[in-house]
Amino acid sequence: MNLQTVTDEPELRRSRDTPLDLSPEEFRRLGHRLVDRVADLLGTLAERPVTPAETPGAVRAALDADRGLPEHGTAPDELLERTSTLLFDHSLFNGHPRFLGYITAGAAPIGILGELLAATVNANVGAWPLAPMASEIEAQTVRWIAELLGYPTECGGLLVSGGNVANLTCFLAALAAVPDGTPRERLRVYASKETHTWIQKAVDVAGLGAGAMRWIGTDGEQRLDVELLRRAIEADRAAGDRPLLVVGTAGSVSTGAVDPLPAIAALCREQGLWFHVDGAYGAFAAAVPEAPDDLRGLSEADSVAVDPHKWLYAPLEAGGALVRDPEALRRAFSHKPPYYHFGEAATNYLDWGLQNSRGFRALKVWLALAQAGRSGYVRMISEDIGLARELYRRLGDEAEIEPLSLGLSITTFRFVPADLRSRVAEPAVASYLDELNLDLLGRIERSGELFVSNAVVGGRFALRPCFVNFRTTQADVEAIPRIVERLGRAADAEVRPAELHG
Ligand SMILES: *Cc1c(COP(=O)(O)O)cnc(C)c1O
Repeated sequence: MNLQTVTDEPELRRSRDTPLDLSPEEFRRLGHRLVDRVADLLGTLAERPVTPAETPGAVRAALDADRGLPEHGTAPDELLERTSTLLFDHSLFNGHPRFLGYITAGAAPIGILGELLAATVNANVGAWPLAPMASEIEAQTVRWIAELLGYPTECGGLLVSGGNVANLTCFLAALAAVPDGTPRERLRVYASKETHTWIQKAVDVAGLGAGAMRWIGTDGEQRLDVELLRRAIEADRAAGDRPLLVVGTAGSVSTGAVDPLPAIAALCREQGLWFHVDGAYGAFAAAVPEAPDDLRGLSEADSVAVDPHKWLYAPLEAGGALVRDPEALRRAFSHKPPYYHFGEAATNYLDWGLQNSRGFRALKVWLALAQAGRSGYVRMISEDIGLARELYRRLGDEAEIEPLSLGLSITTFRFVPADLRSRVAEPAVASYLDELNLDLLGRIERSGELFVSNAVVGGRFALRPCFVNFRTTQADVEAIPRIVERLGRAADAEVRPAELHG
């Protein structure tokens, strides 16, 4: 068959009957049915288990995972029906009111609709001419985020896949600002031991070598110790190394600790270092009056990473990189190949980040910001913080629960059987409590009644609810001690070694 014969077919001149296209009528019918299913799911989330907690084998069997690529297609009705059932019956729901694991939010419903709208326009937000309105909505989203944080709205910034890539993007901007001729192997990067693992990946990707990292100790509340930081920087300078960048964490992953950002900012200014804030978890709490004052120090940072798929409740994925000087982003990422002529009058986001073709991630974030407004977000974030505090307070009244820490919207605690309460300092009891709480964590997950994750706090294995969930209520918080005690006693009855009885 040659091109000539194809284009000579009269029907093909008018339309193509392809196996993918849908007529507008079909699309409408399928879309309405799917939206009905989605609405039913959202309406019944609270009645479902948070997770079915199935084995990988069970999930693969449900999918028929060994089946190869089908030779022939499937009718879209049947396909969407079957696929939504598969997903609804075999998923963990981070939108469930009792999902309090990691730092993972449920999706704002308007963001779900936003994904449909974004895919409809299918804007390629790499270049302004390919995505005129989408590019401007992304620019406005970045300005709105900056406003919410109290960061300069003239900053450069863009949406990326998540906190890791947001942090990496800022890191690469900092690196591009290093004067030519600086020996790379002497660059030094400072971060506390509580910093998320993105920093190791960034140092690796940038090829700085494992020796570039300087881990700075923390105080009793897991906050970077600025005096230790100063000494480390001075020692490196004295040895001829080139201090590059300091990471301050605005809400640590384990306990929600906020580093002393204003003091770090002052030291970075004095020393001429790039001050980067990892605000993937906590940055948005800077908008909330009851959050720690130190959070507001992020306004002084050279760059800030944020994560709208956490505390802005955007559907995955949505991270954001904000850089005070937009030129720093351009220096890091802009190249001028002969095949692009996009003009300079507006931002072409391919000049500001790692991606070339880019989806319209900003829309779901923009829609949610517009729907709730600043006041709506301040209310939701303060309520989340309030629920963590309320839980911490309640746990203090429980005979068999020991609250361990409270930071931003993270509460940590552990189950301690009543008769072991006075013996927690004994090494055998301490190690049993770690084992017991690890076992309890699995029981909680398998129960489907609640989902929390874990942390190690002061050397102790802790259960760790994190509230970034606009569906969680006071009643859910009240249920937590009961669930933990019931499952904790069952675990204790089964796993306690004989020598710890009596
Ligand atoms: C979540 C988180 C990250 C990583 O973000 P992802 O969106 O998972 O890539 C980095 N740092 C902190 C403090 C975080 O909470």
